[in-house]
Amino acid sequence: MLVGLKEILKMAEDGNYCIPAFNVYNVETARGVINGAEELGAPVILQFYSRLVTSGVANDVAPVVMDMAIKSKVPVCFHLDHGAGVCEVIRSLRMGMTGIMIDASSLPLEENIAETKKVVELCSYVGIGVEGELGHIGKAVDGAENATSEYTDPEEAKKYVEETGVEALAVMVGTAHGRYKKLPVLDIDRIEKIKKLTNIPLVLHGGSGVPDDQIKAAIKVGIRKMNFSTDLCYSFLDACRARDKSVVGIDLFMTEPIKAVENFVKAKIEVLGANGRV
Ligand SMILES: [Zn+2]
Repeated sequence: MLVGLKEILKMAEDGNYCIPAFNVYNVETARGVINGAEELGAPVILQFYSRLVTSGVANDVAPVVMDMAIKSKVPVCFHLDHGAGVCEVIRSLRMGMTGIMIDASSLPLEENIAETKKVVELCSYVGIGVEGELGHIGKAVDGAENATSEYTDPEEAKKYVEETGVEALAVMVGTAHGRYKKLPVLDIDRIEKIKKLTNIPLVLHGGSGVPDDQIKAAIKVGIRKMNFSTDLCYSFLDACRARDKSVVGIDLFMTEPIKAVENFVKAKIEVLGANGRV
């Protein structure tokens, strides 16, 4: 069934676990995620990068993902990831998305607050919860460790959450987007402080490649949504590359890549403790 960001995060908050959020790009990756979630009885978030909305890919794929979410046996939230601005937010709402992220984290604090507040108000007209970001989550590929990242300040987080009214907050606590050159070290104390001061579900981006014990420690202190994109892409693409060239029917070709996504998803669901929740 299709559920909203608020509802799905409440499940995680009540049960002290974490909802996995997977970036999907096409029908096959979405199918793999839903299969995995259904098999393990886990609530799940399917999300689109803002880029898919801008490029128009979302126009083709979103109606199918929406239908899959509605028909799913488990709660599914369909979410915009790193919404670039009001334009992408409105388009996503029109496609029926039930969660919105606005990422104005590259702006100075006051401007980030103003932009986020505007989106929270817009989304409130249709009852949709918003994820904001404070502190900038950089890219692992940018080279030097955390070169482009800026850790979230707990006091600033308190102010940001109070003034914007966001439902969830993405924090920078040591992760990055993409593949790590060196294993990340999460600042668990910082997560705990931010959680105490904001008292809302916290989100960890760049979940791919974070060691399981660190993931578990982060959930213990308040991470309620964790994003996985890079490793899902690799699971799908590696399976495509490994496919025998004699398989020509595209539906038949896709069975293994879908299965690979499903297996990746199931492993992450178990680490996050989201299995057997529905
Ligand atoms: Zn992210």
